[in-house]
Amino acid sequence: MPRYAILVHGGCGHWDRADVAAALKGVRAAAQAGRRILADGGSALDAVCAAVVALEDNPLFNAGTGSALNRDGDCEMDASVMCGEGLRCGGVTAIRRVRNPVLVARRVMEETSHVLLAADGALAFARSCEFADYDPITVARRERHRKLALAACASAGTVGAVARDTAGRFAAATSTGGVTLKMPGRVGDSPIAGAGNYATKYGAASATGNGELMMRTLATKSVCDLLASGKTARAAARAAVSALPMTSSQSGGVIALDAASRIGAAVRGGAMPHAWFVAGDARLGARMQP
Ligand code: ASP
Repeated sequence: MPRYAILVHGGCGHWDRADVAAALKGVRAAAQAGRRILADGGSALDAVCAAVVALEDNPLFNAGTGSALNRDGDCEMDASVMCGEGLRCGGVTAIRRVRNPVLVARRVMEETSHVLLAADGALAFARSCEFADYDPITVARRERHRKLALAACASAGTVGAVARDTAGRFAAATSTGGVTLKMPGRVGDSPIAGAGNYATKYGAASATGNGELMMRTLATKSVCDLLASGKTARAAARAAVSALPMTSSQSGGVIALDAASRIGAAVRGGAMPHAWFVAGDARLGARMQP
């Protein structure tokens, strides 16, 4: 039977020293939520969604509650999910006033013939699925928004998860408030299959950092192509991150899982809290740097 595995990240970039312990606690709790599902024989899709929901509900991370704000002080969130089997995927972009964008993304995959719904259309769909009205803006984010200069910057704290279940199926999920002070309407990499999130029958990957870099290089699709050609998750994540055409003020990170249930993580331009568990391991691992 394939060894189940889960790996989650809490976003790359600059992390304040004061937040490190809480960030590691948050990613561990998320990995643990996914691990429980996989250990009970649950699906990789259920596991990545549970892990991402745990992170969306933690205001420390830039996804769901506590999402970064755009130039107008509004919260427009992006999220997507993907199953390796059948390359099924769904996403939402620039969605407002829902608690868990990743769960709306899952419904787009499961209940529509589309891959990506945007803005008011995404919100109308969410309401038709009975996702309640919810304000994800926290006092801390509002304060940070007030203090920041007028240049879009990556906000550490995007979240993502990749998992493999006992049936050997892969899934990936990624969720974010996007970059701080982004233009209203800006779409990042997280909801776009192949840019910020991707899964195939050979593996899965989730990205974080300046999303424009991931869209220009199709970072997670590249990782999955490398996994299909036999590269390890570690080598594939490193290759994708080194290929990012980054400036010194940008950051980029990727997590990946391969068909031997090995984990891989790579980051440039900052730290990336991540946590993992592979069936048979003595305990859950967590780190700021790969
Ligand atoms: N990748 C996300 C975006 O560009 C942001 C991040 O990961 O920090 O929207």
